[in-house]
Amino acid sequence: MSGPFGIRCTEKNKISLATLLTGLVSLSVALTLTILLLASYHSNKESLFETTFALNYSAATKMSHSIDSLFQSMRAGLAYTGARLSAGDLSDSQEMQRQLEALRLGSHYFNSIAVVDETGLVRGVDPPSVGTAGLHIATEATKEALAVKKSYISKPYYSVNGRLIVFMSEPLFDKDGIYRGYIGGSLYLQENNILNMMFGMHNLNSDGSYFYVVSSNGYLLFHPDKSRIGEDGSANLIVQKVLRGESGYDQVTNSQGITFLAGYSPVLENGWGVVVQSPINVVYDELNRNIHTLLLYTLAPFAVLMITAIWLARRLAHPFVSLANLAGRLGRGERIVLPDVKHHWNREADLLTQTITLALSDLQKQTEQLAHAAMTDSLTGLTNRRTFESIMTQWTEEQYSFALIVMDIDRFKSINDTYGHQAGDEVLKHLAHVVTSSVGPHDLCCRYGGEEFVVLLPLATVPEALITAERIRTAFETRENPLGTPVTISSGIAHFPSHAESADMLFQRADHALYRAKEAGKNRTIVAD
Ligand code: GH3
Ligand code: MG
Ligand code: MG
Repeated sequence: MSGPFGIRCTEKNKISLATLLTGLVSLSVALTLTILLLASYHSNKESLFETTFALNYSAATKMSHSIDSLFQSMRAGLAYTGARLSAGDLSDSQEMQRQLEALRLGSHYFNSIAVVDETGLVRGVDPPSVGTAGLHIATEATKEALAVKKSYISKPYYSVNGRLIVFMSEPLFDKDGIYRGYIGGSLYLQENNILNMMFGMHNLNSDGSYFYVVSSNGYLLFHPDKSRIGEDGSANLIVQKVLRGESGYDQVTNSQGITFLAGYSPVLENGWGVVVQSPINVVYDELNRNIHTLLLYTLAPFAVLMITAIWLARRLAHPFVSLANLAGRLGRGERIVLPDVKHHWNREADLLTQTITLALSDLQKQTEQLAHAAMTDSLTGLTNRRTFESIMTQWTEEQYSFALIVMDIDRFKSINDTYGHQAGDEVLKHLAHVVTSSVGPHDLCCRYGGEEFVVLLPLATVPEALITAERIRTAFETRENPLGTPVTISSGIAHFPSHAESADMLFQRADHALYRAKEAGKNRTIVAD
C-alpha cells in the first residue's frame, strides 16, 4: 500500500526503536555479565591453580627436609651404636643385644636392627623375634652393604620373612681400622614405622589431596593406599623428575587417569622423592563454587541495571516513537489531533518534538486556511460558486429535496459607474450580510459571481423559499446601505425535484425566473413555472 506522500507502508517487517534499544541494552548487559564471569573464571582458575601448586610444593619441600633430617639422625644413631660396639667386644652378644635394643626403643627409628659381620653372619638382631640371629644372610641388600663397606641405603625389597623393607647400614671397623661388617636398621614399609609416625597413617586429606614417597628407583615407599606400597611408580613423569633431583610443581595424570596438581621435592640424604598432589577436579569444584557465589552476588545488580537501562531506553525512544506514529498517520492522510507537547529531558528528543509539533500545527493551520479559502469568496466571505455547485450536484444526486433562490442586484453597472468600483464592493458586502442574516441556520448562502448571489434552502417548499426571498429583497431595499440611496434586487426561485431533474437544469430554471423578474420591471421575486 502506498500513502498520499508515496510512503511504502511495510511497517510490519520493521523493528521499532523501542525494541531495538531494548534489545541493544539487554545484549550489552548480558555480554558484560558474560565477560565478567569469563574473566573472573579465568583469573580465579589461575589463582586457584597457583595457590594449589604453591601449597603442594611447599608441603613437599618441608616433608623432604624432614625426611632428610630424619635420615641424618637415623644414620647418626646407627653410626653411634656401631662405634660403641666396635670399641667393645663384638662377640659379647648380651652387651650387643642391650645396645641394639637401646637404639631401637630409644629412637623408634627402625622396626628392626641387626649387626652382621663381614662374612654375612648375623651376630645380633633386635627385636630377637626376627629370628635371624646366627644365620647367614645372603640378600641382595646385605651383599651390597658388605661390598660397599660404607654408609648404605637399600632399595625396597622383600625380606626373608616376606616383609617389604628398606634397609640402611653403617660400616663397622675395629680399632685397627679393619672392616668387621655393618650395623643395619630396617623400616617395615607396610607396618607402623617412623615415616607414618611422622606424617600420619592416613595422609589422605578431606579434599582428596595426599602425598607419597618414592625410593631412588621409583618404587612407592609411602602412599595413603597401603596396597600400592612397593609398586613401581617410575612411569610417572613427576616421579621421573623428582628422581632426577628436580623440585617444582606440575600438572600430571596418574596411572588411573586422574589429573593432579602436584608439588615435588627430592630428599638429598637418601635419593628419595616426595610428591604432594591434589586432584584437579577439587580445584574445579572450588572454582565452580566461586563462580556460583559471584553469579549470586552480581545477578541482582545486573538485573537492576538491565531494568533501569531498558526503562531509560524506552523513555528515550518514546518521543521518537510518538513522532513517527504521528508522521505515519499524517502520511496515511488521517486527520490528526496534535498531542500536548511535554518537555523531554533529552535535548535532541525535546528539540525534535517541539520543532516537529510546531511545524505540524502550522502545517495543519495552513491546510485548514487553504481549504477554507478554496471554498470561500474572498470579498464577501460567503461560500463560493465551485462549492455551491458541488453541494447542489451532490444534493440532486442524492435526491435531496431543496429550493434554490438566484438573486441579482438591479442596475449594478450604473452604481459602479456613479459611485465607483469600491463603493460597488461595499454594496456587495452589504448584500452578503443581509442575505446571511435573513436565512435559517441550515440554509447555505453563496456568491455565484459578480453581483449574483444564490441561497440553497434544504427541505424548503416553494412558498417557504418565496417567503425567504421576499424577506431578503425587502430587507435589502429598506435597510440602510453604504450608498445612502436605495438599491434593489431581483430573484428567481426553483425547486428540486419539482422544477428540474438535474442541478444544471434547476439553475437554468431559477435563472430564467430571475430573467423574467428583470423583464417584469426588477425589484421582485418570480418562481419558475
Ligand atoms: P440589471 O439590472 O439588468 O442586472 O443591470 P446591471 O447593470 O446590474 O447588469 P450587468 O450584468 O450588465 O452589470 C453587472 C455589473 O456588475 C458589471 C460589472 O462591472 C459589475 N461587477 C461585476 N463584478 C463586480 C465586482 O466584484 N465589484 C464591483 N464593484 N462590480 C462588479
Ligand atoms: Mg448580473
Ligand atoms: Mg444586475
